[in-house]
Amino acid sequence: MGEGSNFTKILSEAREYRLGCWLTTQYLNQLATEMKRAAANDCRTKIVFNPDGTEDLNRIAGMLQGIDKKQLRQLGQYRAVIQKPSETQRGPAAVFNTYPPWNANHAGINQIKDRATQAEPRTTEIKLRQSLGNQTSAGGEKHKQLLAEAKQDLEQQGYQVNLLYQADEEEKPDGHLVTPDGKTAHLEAEHSTLTKPTKVLKNLKRGTQKDREVIFVVKEGKAVKLENILSDPVNRRGSQHEDQHGTYSYYTEDGNKFTDIQAVEDADYRIIEIREDSITIHEEEVEAECPMMENHQKEELEQFCLHRDNGHCQELGQECVLQT
Ligand code: SF4
Repeated sequence: MGEGSNFTKILSEAREYRLGCWLTTQYLNQLATEMKRAAANDCRTKIVFNPDGTEDLNRIAGMLQGIDKKQLRQLGQYRAVIQKPSETQRGPAAVFNTYPPWNANHAGINQIKDRATQAEPRTTEIKLRQSLGNQTSAGGEKHKQLLAEAKQDLEQQGYQVNLLYQADEEEKPDGHLVTPDGKTAHLEAEHSTLTKPTKVLKNLKRGTQKDREVIFVVKEGKAVKLENILSDPVNRRGSQHEDQHGTYSYYTEDGNKFTDIQAVEDADYRIIEIREDSITIHEEEVEAECPMMENHQKEELEQFCLHRDNGHCQELGQECVLQT
């Protein structure tokens, strides 16, 4: 929006001619007084990224309903505030996440895949370029590291990944993900949550409510444990209740049972295991493998195994795979 342009006239008449414009500026103070006034009064939808450090903070806060200077200063990277127009009374402005710049080169996907499969093991931590919030819902450092690794690996495979800033007031997935065929899915990293099946099932339910596939990422070796939760939401290992298929006990956390089985029964999900040097995307249900087979003969284990109790494998958390 340069000085001396005809934009002030265009802005005042655009509506009449049903003309829509996207105008951007780094600093309001760069604009001539007339243009500044036109931008404030005639641009009915305003989107503001973190204006911290600019002299325009007061003026910008004044254009946004219910957002103060402190909230503007605290906007993380890739977060913005939108003030939408209204025919009657202006509603409150809302904070939203945007997609960080993504420079995927689709033409080179195959080379990237080849490189990824020959990659050296990860030796250093991957740093996220964005804040995910400090609230409890943002998870601990290991959770963040898992997300960072998943983002890096999935983007190399042609997925677009947008990790979401977590605030206490709303329950969100860890991220949104656009698959190479253009479908939006939820991204959930399960680290400590694997010991909290109700949390995992709630994450799955959130995706089904939006009619989206849920892509779960776990550390190497944890896919079976996650599959056990997702494929058995009533917890058939329990014995509190009984139906025509056998006994079950709903998963419970802090006294709250997860009973919304219908919501997750036909859910669409995939599990991705993050390995040291690559990822494995499980397109089908994850088949459990006996963890003792590396060091023992199958025949021996079929006869006797320390981990088996009444046909149940305590290591896998499901029926012994050698006795089914
Ligand atoms: S109980 Fe079965 S699946 Fe589990 S470790 Fe023993 S033999 Fe393997």
